[in-house]
Amino acid sequence: MVTAAKDYYEILGVSKDASAEEIKKAYRRLAMKYHPDRTKGDKNAEERFKEINEAYHILSDPEKRKQYDMMREGFNPFVSGGGFGPGGFRFRTSTEGFEQFKDFGFSFDDLGGFGGIGDIFESIFGYHGTQRRGTRAQRFAQRGGDIYTEITIPFELAVHGGKQTIAVTRDEVCPRCGGTGGEPGSRVTTCPRCGGSGTVLFSHGTFGISRTCPECYGSGEKIAKPCRECKGAKMVRRTRRITVKIPKGIREGQTIRLAGQGEPGVNGAPAGDLLIKIHIQPHSYFRRDGYNIFSEETISLEEAVLGGRRRVRTINGWANLKIPPGTQPMTKFRLRKAGLQRPDGSYGDHYVTVKVEIPKKLNSHQQKLFKAFVESLK
Ligand SMILES: [Zn+2]
Ligand SMILES: [Zn+2]
Repeated sequence: MVTAAKDYYEILGVSKDASAEEIKKAYRRLAMKYHPDRTKGDKNAEERFKEINEAYHILSDPEKRKQYDMMREGFNPFVSGGGFGPGGFRFRTSTEGFEQFKDFGFSFDDLGGFGGIGDIFESIFGYHGTQRRGTRAQRFAQRGGDIYTEITIPFELAVHGGKQTIAVTRDEVCPRCGGTGGEPGSRVTTCPRCGGSGTVLFSHGTFGISRTCPECYGSGEKIAKPCRECKGAKMVRRTRRITVKIPKGIREGQTIRLAGQGEPGVNGAPAGDLLIKIHIQPHSYFRRDGYNIFSEETISLEEAVLGGRRRVRTINGWANLKIPPGTQPMTKFRLRKAGLQRPDGSYGDHYVTVKVEIPKKLNSHQQKLFKAFVESLK
């Protein structure tokens, strides 16, 4: 992948002289359309999203954009300098310039005379391509993508916190070849077709158009014996069980971020993050609102009339509920500090709403007694 060959204007669908505002608008529209939240699992869309971000990163920064434009239009210093190299090559475009230059085994560092291409690469892409400078294309170090997932956890786990194991499928550096793509010990050489740049230049009138190299599919490498495990892809898809620490009191819809547990980065860049959206199973007895808990308790007519004591279930164990004589149906009692613990250490409350069970079937004797009782209240 040679970043210089990418047309960032085309990626954002704007003209070469688009204003900063136009670029921003185009970016917003595309970023929304291709955001991984919306295109879950669509690899093409993910790739496109990365490209869009890359393009915006360069074009939204006036200084980077200027340098990028310069690079696209060709390094005039090459042309005006002339007489460079044994064959007296003419450099029509920047990309071709790079290709030719590389073929002569020069290092980008040697270009000190006009500021150095290496500097420009570094300032545009924020990347120090020191290891392979001059022998291979400058690769884009790109942070790995984030992985989004959702899980539903039991009510009690959300209340008290704890651990939950989840399965996550992601790309990982192939363990067999260590990410070289070749069988252990097999030689990885520079692709002869593109010279390692990953792109080849097609002449098109006075322009050179670069395309992904058909021989190495853009990797810039030729692998003598592709790795048996990854078939030369360098990455393997793996499903891993990951243990997630659930903080106590987590709420419905909150997201836990596990840094570095996403897709691996490209060319030594850090991995993306794993984002886990939490859903909470409803409980058969408790209902929760923030740090408070709500429940219902059905008491007998006698308890409602004469009062009594009850053991009620709370999230922190059993508690005593005192029912005063003459308790009305749907009275709400508060059990102080029997709710969830807040981050500051204090506790929410537990509210118990009482329902009163009215005797359903009275025999004639009981009816007589009840009538007499009601009469006595008058
Ligand atoms: Zn190639
Ligand atoms: Zn492999």
